[in-house]
Amino acid sequence: MSTDDGARGDDTGAPKTIFGKILDGELPCHRIYEDEHVLAFLDIFPLSPGHVLVIPKERKAFLHELSDDAAAAIGRVLPRLARAVMRTTGATAYNVLQNNGAAAHQAVFHVHFHIIPKHGDRGLGIAWHPSALAGGDAVALVERIREELE
Ligand code: 5GP
Repeated sequence: MSTDDGARGDDTGAPKTIFGKILDGELPCHRIYEDEHVLAFLDIFPLSPGHVLVIPKERKAFLHELSDDAAAAIGRVLPRLARAVMRTTGATAYNVLQNNGAAAHQAVFHVHFHIIPKHGDRGLGIAWHPSALAGGDAVALVERIREELE
């Protein structure tokens, strides 16, 4: 799968992203959590108070490029971080957002997960335009996706 529609933040020798610079200590951040594989810090332009970014230390632009180890490390810590953000902000609803590709609103090409508390009107706004799933299409789609699974 190719999603090469922006500057990449990976380990291919491409220019360093903002998050790469944060990882290397070249830019500051409001650090919340760090372990061997993961860093979490406040988003500099929050959609709501408590908007946190969680990034792998592995330098990949897109989620589908992450190693199993990096993905597992993120998955292990996301619920803990969400609990801490909710307790701290008092929010009872939140979104976890993860954009891949400029067309999908990705601006920084280093994998990141947003934790965005919902406070009244503040937080993530979603335009959701569903269509009905056609039975025949669904069967074919499932077969093809299963074939692609590694
Ligand atoms: P994306 O649209 O790529 O999913 O989100 C990128 C996020 O990175 C945005 O929410 C933006 O506010 C945040 N961001 C961009 N530059 C910086 C920065 O220098 N420091 C921090 N902490 N966040 C940043």
